[in-house]
Amino acid sequence: MTDALLTLNAGSSSLKFAVFDPHTLACLGRGGVEALGGDARLQFRPAKGEAFSDRLGRGDGDAPLAALTGALDTLGKALPGLAVRAVGHRIVHGGAELAAPVRIDDAVYAALAKLEPLAPLHQPHNLAGVRAARALFPQAAQVACFDTAFHRGHDFVADAYGLPREMYDAGLRRYGFHGLSYEYVSGRLREIAPEIAGGRVIIAHLGNGASMCALRDGRSVATTMGFSTLDGLPMGTRPGQLDPGALLYLMSASGYDAAALSELLYHRSGLKGLSGVSNDWREIEAAGTPHARDAIAYFVHRLVHEIGGLTADLGGLDALVFTGGIGEHSVSLRAAVAARLGWLGLALDESANAAAQTRISAPPSRLAAFVVPTDEERQIAEHTAKTAFA
Ligand code: ADP
Repeated sequence: MTDALLTLNAGSSSLKFAVFDPHTLACLGRGGVEALGGDARLQFRPAKGEAFSDRLGRGDGDAPLAALTGALDTLGKALPGLAVRAVGHRIVHGGAELAAPVRIDDAVYAALAKLEPLAPLHQPHNLAGVRAARALFPQAAQVACFDTAFHRGHDFVADAYGLPREMYDAGLRRYGFHGLSYEYVSGRLREIAPEIAGGRVIIAHLGNGASMCALRDGRSVATTMGFSTLDGLPMGTRPGQLDPGALLYLMSASGYDAAALSELLYHRSGLKGLSGVSNDWREIEAAGTPHARDAIAYFVHRLVHEIGGLTADLGGLDALVFTGGIGEHSVSLRAAVAARLGWLGLALDESANAAAQTRISAPPSRLAAFVVPTDEERQIAEHTAKTAFA
């Protein structure tokens, strides 16, 4: 039997996973399941050998859990000879207290379940993944890795809202998310340009979800997402920054209740709502309609605006790093943002940008710019190995 470390990112209808050698942290393969609870299909790309996919079909009973269990069971059978020693879970919310990865025992599980109301669209699915993995791999250490943890330790002013103080004390504060991505990218930047990684850096994680983080010497000092994953930048289907008065208006004048607001804010807004085309950046760029162009212009405007605020938080800026599906792949988005940052001293190297090279700023640029692909699974694997085998 070969030892294996499994990373799991369990969502409402999809599961992403990767398999690592727990000793060397070499990646043995990655995969995912789409349409969990429906006509689910498992895809796996081993590092060596042929990719395969397997139709899982519909699970019974507690739908997400049964579907997850089925998916993991299939994966276990597809990888004969692997003994899963540790499972690292991506958990969206660690609350105000959990600032580092932790082994999941019954007490930790109960504490994480209590945080479900803070992230109702993610945390319950993350925890269904924990239950499924505990049942299927009872001998393996289960480790929780949090999207919020990287942002713990902010100054009070970076986490507070202007609400009554007792609400902050009761947990109504900015938590920030995408922490595993920021941690990974910041670690890579330290390898790529150590002198810059020790300075003032903004990382823009631009995928379906989008946020930015201001870092000083590799530590988060501010971030654009807040109490929930709705705040900050516009995203695929979420609006980003919004006046709460608009929500009061929708409730009093248009009869929206919590469920209708949630559907509006999580599923019908952002790039999809503005463009009327899609939540997918490539489709919006390809559409080229006036509303699609407006959606792109708004995204760029909000990015530049938030970069200005985060730069003020940092007292200046040494580097801007693009990551996430849009940040890593959209040449035109990076060019549009860079064109608005001349005042910060950014001079883009057009051909380096077009080729998505690691450093995309021209040599005389006062502000350095980079493209650094993120790898949240690897970050989870590193945390899990350290936490499980320490
Ligand atoms: P998630 O947040 O779900 O992990 P990703 O980080 O994969 O999402 O980002 C998805 C986004 O990246 C989509 O809007 C998609 O259109 C965009 N994207 C992916 N590939 C490209 C590409 N080659 N050019 C432009 N945008 C891309």
